[in-house]
Amino acid sequence: MLIAVFDIGGTSIKYGVVDEAGSILMDDSFPSQAHLGGEAIIKNVIAKSRELQHEWNLDGIAISSAGQIDNQEGVVVHATGNIPGYTGVQIKKTIQDATGLNVTAENDVNCTALGEYWKGAAMGAEDFLCVTIGTGIGGAIFTDGKLSTGSRFSAGEIGHINLYPGGKACTCGDSGCLEQYASSSALQEMIFETLGYKMELKEFFDRLRAGDEKCTWLYNRWIDDLTTGLKSIVHILNPELIVIGGGISAQGDFLLNPIKKSLSSKIMPNHAASLDIRIAQHANQANLLGAAKHFIDCGGGE
Ligand SMILES: [Zn+2]
Repeated sequence: MLIAVFDIGGTSIKYGVVDEAGSILMDDSFPSQAHLGGEAIIKNVIAKSRELQHEWNLDGIAISSAGQIDNQEGVVVHATGNIPGYTGVQIKKTIQDATGLNVTAENDVNCTALGEYWKGAAMGAEDFLCVTIGTGIGGAIFTDGKLSTGSRFSAGEIGHINLYPGGKACTCGDSGCLEQYASSSALQEMIFETLGYKMELKEFFDRLRAGDEKCTWLYNRWIDDLTTGLKSIVHILNPELIVIGGGISAQGDFLLNPIKKSLSSKIMPNHAASLDIRIAQHANQANLLGAAKHFIDCGGGE
């Protein structure tokens, strides 16, 4: 079985071809041009799908996408302003009608979790939480070996746990949410507010490794906010594992160890004793693998 896979985000659309064993046979990306809107993005995905159809004997198309996605009907239930006009877009039907192939769609963080469960850091785990840290903070919940998506495909929005009531305004319409304090963007904003100038995170981590005091102070505060958010989830779900993904997870142990230390000091000992925390193994490719896994689990989009 050969599946064309797409990962639709606000900045870029990654794509590839994956077989039923989870091997990625090719992958590449193109800019999303999100400002053109949700319908334009799907048109671009259709154009790329047709190219891939010429080169590969495809059995279907699997989509991982930003936004809250009805993973049965393949419809965008809700999307933020990052992709204008995306809410309500019928991903599955539109691409299916245009290509004649079976199509499935699933939320991107759920795909990260599925990809890591299938081939990565969460292999063998039945109850785990996947957290992606980037522009925002996303969450996916795995319970008894299955994704738990809630009554309307919107569970796991852990970026919107309230951390500071009345705090910074959030994209969800409320204020004081976790992602306003503990996302990668929030870290960059804190750096700017504290140091008075902008700094790429690569440089920040270089300085941190060199022992810079101000950077260390900032990082500790950021980790403290992140683990205060995670503490609530751990006590509610009692997971065996937290998988940390998103761009910042490239920092590896330099991210993992302070999270472990800080979180274990905040949660009840019985929760701490049974909890493992790992960095996602597949970085950018986890969503492509997860989309393919969802397609296979759906019986090939039938
Ligand atoms: Zn929020």
